[in-house]
Amino acid sequence: MDDDNPTSQIYDVAIVGAGPAGLTAALYAARSGLSTVMIERGVAGGQAATTHMIENYPGFPDGVAGPELMAQMQQQAEKFGAEVVQADVDALELGGETKKVKSGSQEWAARTIILAMGAYPRKLGVPGEDDLVGGGVSYCATCDGAFYKGKKVAVVGGGDSAIVEALYLTRFATEVTVIHRRAELRAAKVLQDRAFNHEKVKFAWNSVVTSVEGEGILDHLVLKNVKTGEETELKVNGVFVYVGYDPNTALVKGQVGLDPHGYVVAGEDTKTSLPGVFAAGDLRVKGLRQVITAAADGAVAAEQALRYVEENEA
Ligand code: NAP
Repeated sequence: MDDDNPTSQIYDVAIVGAGPAGLTAALYAARSGLSTVMIERGVAGGQAATTHMIENYPGFPDGVAGPELMAQMQQQAEKFGAEVVQADVDALELGGETKKVKSGSQEWAARTIILAMGAYPRKLGVPGEDDLVGGGVSYCATCDGAFYKGKKVAVVGGGDSAIVEALYLTRFATEVTVIHRRAELRAAKVLQDRAFNHEKVKFAWNSVVTSVEGEGILDHLVLKNVKTGEETELKVNGVFVYVGYDPNTALVKGQVGLDPHGYVVAGEDTKTSLPGVFAAGDLRVKGLRQVITAAADGAVAAEQALRYVEENEA
């Protein structure tokens, strides 16, 4: 027996990440009688917990606040006996019969692992961006939008996230400029229509941000028109970056198969290249990344973990 893992327990399933994929996996695994531990570094819920309103999760005709839906998912998983631990996982040992999840001196051993670490917001990668995080640069409108009451903000990106969050920001800001590198949005038509019809939402088309300027606090963005090369300044108090996501798979690189963009290669059965290791949610190669598809993956992964445990019982 050691101090860091006082029970020296070997769980049936260890789930890494508590977004909708991990939470659903925990619910299904625990409910089917598997001893289940889920390890999450932040607040359970992942990206969905930073979404102010989810309008397309079935069963909620008026929409549901992301944090509320995620808290309910966690409660449901815990009700069936899933253990939720807060720790920053820094190493995963996925080979062999007993797999290990490590965080500093803490360690959890399990027969199966469900990878559900999701994805993180992509940065613009321009000068000034890192320096002004917390001083006007944000990746979460739900978290920071309220600071911009009566102010002007910009949103970078043209996908669903950018438009959903631009519309949310109209609750606080006097003007929201969407900066998009093309002249056509990627977002769903229903969202586009709402944005085009909103008096507070403006657009900077064919434009990219080349630098974020300000001394400790954002003063303005430098925009470049990609068609004409012309540079202009846009004075805003806040900029919200929504240019897509990258998978959180650095810890599994070299252990399970990844595609060229770093997503875990696993089919609809969530099986990775390693036996007993499953991938659920946004970090898996897939066509549609939504709360419901993440949740679906979680259910499938838990079912696969159950089969694996049964088939490999000593
Ligand atoms: P996304 O669909 O990948 O869109 C990213 C946007 O950022 C695109 O418009 C892209 O431009 C732009 N972009 C990418 N790199 C850029 C760069 N370096 N500089 C400037 N612009 C850049 O990402 P997302 O909007 O975050 O959505 C992710 C997933 O979640 C999608 O599957 C989406 O449908 C889903 N989602 C759904 C909802 C919903 O309400 N249903 C809400 C949020 C997210 P291009 O268009 O030119 O490529």
